[in-house]
Amino acid sequence: MRRTTPPRPVDVAAVFPELAGMARTATRLHPRPGTPTVHDSSVGGPLLWPADEDWPMCEQTHWSSRLRGLEDVRARRRILQAGAPRTAAEQAVVDREPVEHDPTRAPAEPWPLLPVAQLYARDIPDLPCPDGTDLLQVLWCPSTEIESESSSAVHLRWRHSSEVTQVLEQPPEPVFVDYDGYVPLPCALHPEQVVEYPASFTATCTRASASSPIKPRICTRCGTGADARP
Ligand SMILES: [Zn+2]
Repeated sequence: MRRTTPPRPVDVAAVFPELAGMARTATRLHPRPGTPTVHDSSVGGPLLWPADEDWPMCEQTHWSSRLRGLEDVRARRRILQAGAPRTAAEQAVVDREPVEHDPTRAPAEPWPLLPVAQLYARDIPDLPCPDGTDLLQVLWCPSTEIESESSSAVHLRWRHSSEVTQVLEQPPEPVFVDYDGYVPLPCALHPEQVVEYPASFTATCTRASASSPIKPRICTRCGTGADARP
């Protein structure tokens, strides 16, 4: 299915001619729940990973006080998606709270990373692939580490898809996650190229740079007044 962005209510470049030269293309991924394969671009789907290449691991110490089992997260999602009625066992899974921290349950060894996204250049025309590559794979450790800007828990892997002859069938997975929101739902992508402008200009006037020459005009047009907070 092709997904598209509705036409913009105004032609930004016509209203603000100063921005005309700043237009650039971006790709909206439009992820939707699905069953992508290793040969598809995806969010949370399986990766085209060589069978003879080590899977990336997180070496950090995991100290979270509340953990969820990865399989519990997936089971709860399946049950909620199926809807009522539920068996008592299914309801128990839905109601189960994260396990309280028990150091003996949090594996001390490195945690395998989880696939977050896989992007083939054929689907994402603007993907800035290094020479000799046509595929970007993103993985992360499903822990609060990913919220740190200096985190090493996010891993990017560029590769050329034609060089993967034998795919790793069952990659390792972490037993626990810090938060179920760190477990991407497998989604197929419906990429769409759109035109965008620098964020400091297209954001609301309260986010626009105080030094922006068009800021007063943005404030006037959006109705919040030229004296809006810079
Ligand atoms: Zn980690």
